[in-house]
Amino acid sequence: MTNRTFTMIKPDAFGNGHTGAILQKIEAAGFKFIALKLTKLSAEKAGEFYAVHAARPFYGELVEFMSSGPIVAAILEKDNAVEEFRKLIGATNPANADEGTIRKIFAESIGRNAVHGSDSDENAAIEGNFFFSGFERI
Ligand code: GDP
Repeated sequence: MTNRTFTMIKPDAFGNGHTGAILQKIEAAGFKFIALKLTKLSAEKAGEFYAVHAARPFYGELVEFMSSGPIVAAILEKDNAVEEFRKLIGATNPANADEGTIRKIFAESIGRNAVHGSDSDENAAIEGNFFFSGFERI
């Protein structure tokens, strides 16, 4: 276990004006920001980020959605960060997410589910490096 994870506030949550509330929940849960930026993914970049899902039936929809508007990307630090953050955001489908989780509160559907959270230490490092140079993190 390492102490870093990577997150994105997805275009649905950004567009619905939930960015501030979500960042506040992340901080209140004890995560420290190591890197933070507002940006927009091209379809090509979104496809690259989610390449592991290329064979899934929802891949096209996922790429279209993730490139449909701005996103907020961040590297976060806390003990056992990957697991702790997945607990904070809740299940992929908000219908199955626990009460009080970020997806339960802010997600619209299984696709438009408000936030991303890395699923392993290895992917957290890969995903953080996808968005941030050494100069852009503390
Ligand atoms: P996560 O680790 O909880 O984000 O879930 P996955 O790695 O299984 O899926 C990655 C992302 O693909 C999810 O966060 C959703 O945005 C999207 N996704 C997953 N399943 C579906 C689906 O059945 N339909 C659609 N449209 N999107 C999905």
